[in-house]
Amino acid sequence: MNPPTDPARMHRHDEETERLARAAFDYVADRTEREVPLDGPRPAAELDKLVGASVTRDGLGWEEALRRFTEVLAKATISMDHPLHLAYVPAAPTEAAVLFDLVVSASSIFGGSWQEGAGAVYAENQALAWLADLCRLPAGAGGCFVSGGSAANLSALVAARHRAATLREGRPARWRIAATAEAHSSVRSAAEIMDVDVLPVPGDHRGALRGEALRDALAADPEEGDGLFAVVATAGSTNLGVVDDLAGAADAAREHDLWLHVDAAYGGAALAAPSVHGLFDGIEGADSVTIDPHKWLFSPFDCAALVYRDPASAAAAHTQKASYLDAVTRDEWNPHDYAFHLSRRARGLPFWFSLVTHGTDAYREAVEATLTLTRRVAAEIAGRGGLELVFEPELSVVLFRRKGWERADYDAWADRQLTEGRAFVRATSWQGEPVMRLCFVNPRTTVEMVRPLLDSMFD
Ligand SMILES: *Cc1c(COP(=O)(O)O)cnc(C)c1O
Repeated sequence: MNPPTDPARMHRHDEETERLARAAFDYVADRTEREVPLDGPRPAAELDKLVGASVTRDGLGWEEALRRFTEVLAKATISMDHPLHLAYVPAAPTEAAVLFDLVVSASSIFGGSWQEGAGAVYAENQALAWLADLCRLPAGAGGCFVSGGSAANLSALVAARHRAATLREGRPARWRIAATAEAHSSVRSAAEIMDVDVLPVPGDHRGALRGEALRDALAADPEEGDGLFAVVATAGSTNLGVVDDLAGAADAAREHDLWLHVDAAYGGAALAAPSVHGLFDGIEGADSVTIDPHKWLFSPFDCAALVYRDPASAAAAHTQKASYLDAVTRDEWNPHDYAFHLSRRARGLPFWFSLVTHGTDAYREAVEATLTLTRRVAAEIAGRGGLELVFEPELSVVLFRRKGWERADYDAWADRQLTEGRAFVRATSWQGEPVMRLCFVNPRTTVEMVRPLLDSMFD
């Protein structure tokens, strides 16, 4: 038996924690001040050698733990905010949002209920109200922040089905949603989790859902609409950055009494940009909207907004009931009633803080700047003999071909950019053909940085 030690020793504030605090602040200051290296993944066997077993009985001490993180682990993670991270959907949190994230962590906030987190919930709701307003949803719209677009889409569809189940008598043979093939993978995943079928709606030449195609699919439905409860429209498809015909989707959904969920996880940020705002006409007809501030609204991970036109219908689906929850006050706004969760980090606060610090004009300008950059890159590609645009970009995704390249050529080139620490890029496919895809969300990225990347496709 070891001699008795102080069980509160981990919670004591002493000289060691003062030194750790300084080291942590120094790390943060350094990470925010300097140009970040791209970094990249290492094989697990290499990390085994460099980090090894770090969980031990006696602990390594904070200096060694921090060393293993800063010298090895942090370098084995890609910097999502590197200006030439153009793969998937990158991130570009503002310094205000990042630094305030530390404040949120230190404040030990329970963001689930008004009773425990009123101040945090109040502030988050102001940020949600700005997003609801951009969507032109009526006063009274609201919701909560969840971990990501996947969680938001699932929670919205659960609310939609709950409403449909309340309105009908008996269960259908199968519950169903209508969506196109370009709807995000998380929508099909949500359908599987919920054991719901998908009525496929054919997309147009860019995969977008059009009102007429939705009407035709609903008219031709062999089940005559039985069990259908929602239409999912995408406002900024992940692969192409294309916005569905939201007005057409809203009209058709209304005619058929279907819940319209608009998945704007990536593209919703562009609602703030006057040059493309018109693409979102009809979003005001949505019953629920997903927008991820951790994608293109400059918030750190993880932060996704879920807004409902009629929050009460979502609360009916999601409110958890138990004797130990009887004391939760019900006459105020409880974020845990609006998604599949109970405990939650007040993850909307860093977004709120940055929005309040900089003002909405700064957001409009930053999103607009990435759209301008995207158009300039597209023009640059269109002007080069060996490259070919697949489409003019609608938002901030550019798809293009390097003439003569197969999938393996794109992958080898992309791998080389990463191992050389220059850029993180990934190919995708469109209609079965491999193409290069660049996604811009970082206002620090410039066309001058992108040119040499395009040049390197001819090395
Ligand atoms: C990224 C994305 C999602 C998933 O969001 P996560 O935050 O990664 O869970 C859903 N829908 C669309 C359109 C997306 O682009």
